[in-house]
Amino acid sequence: MTYTVVNKFIPQSLYKLKASYGMSPQYITIHNTANDATALNEIAYMTRNNNATSYHVAIDDKHAVQAIPFSRNAWHCGDGQGSGNRKSIGIEICYSKSGGLKYYAAEENAVEYTAHALKQYGWGIERIKWHRDWSGKNCPHRMIAEGRLDSFKNRVKVKLDELNGTAKLSASRKEDEPVSNKPSSWAKESWDKAAKNGIVDGTGPTSPLTREQFVVILDRLGLNKEVK
Ligand SMILES: [Zn+2]
Repeated sequence: MTYTVVNKFIPQSLYKLKASYGMSPQYITIHNTANDATALNEIAYMTRNNNATSYHVAIDDKHAVQAIPFSRNAWHCGDGQGSGNRKSIGIEICYSKSGGLKYYAAEENAVEYTAHALKQYGWGIERIKWHRDWSGKNCPHRMIAEGRLDSFKNRVKVKLDELNGTAKLSASRKEDEPVSNKPSSWAKESWDKAAKNGIVDGTGPTSPLTREQFVVILDRLGLNKEVK
């Protein structure tokens, strides 16, 4: 890990303004700060001003600073009472205005932080959203301008696979492929199709399905509808 997690939680007296509702998060929303402040300064500014605007975490090249617990909402998506503001964890990546090495280090730290957060909730990268998805705002502006949205998700995926222990399996497949890593002949066609369609990750075809994997698959099929 190349960053230190720092807790700078806002006082509960600010909950009414900046973290108004309890939240059971469903997504992670990525932002660029569009300035050159450090994560600590970004959070300090958010905490002392009188705007509702808020987010959960700011990340730079050294720190991941959390200001709002993931059990409260924050106002960072510009979608009113929509799922961005009410159901997503807001992560600000610092130094995006001028870019440069410090920005790229911050973005890489955000990759790692996001992977850990996804792992914590048992989620896949489909839970990653951009600010733009919710309100159309040009954010994360630097990642959009430099064409790195897919790359960010792919880098999180690599890290997440590592954390979940699924990366090693695919890397070592050639030498010591366990028999159980091959689908049965009667299932092969369906299995290959499902892997190609991203419904399963292509590993462990004969392993039992857990309830959490089942609901993730429902999500991937579009059958796990948002509760309105
Ligand atoms: Zn944003």
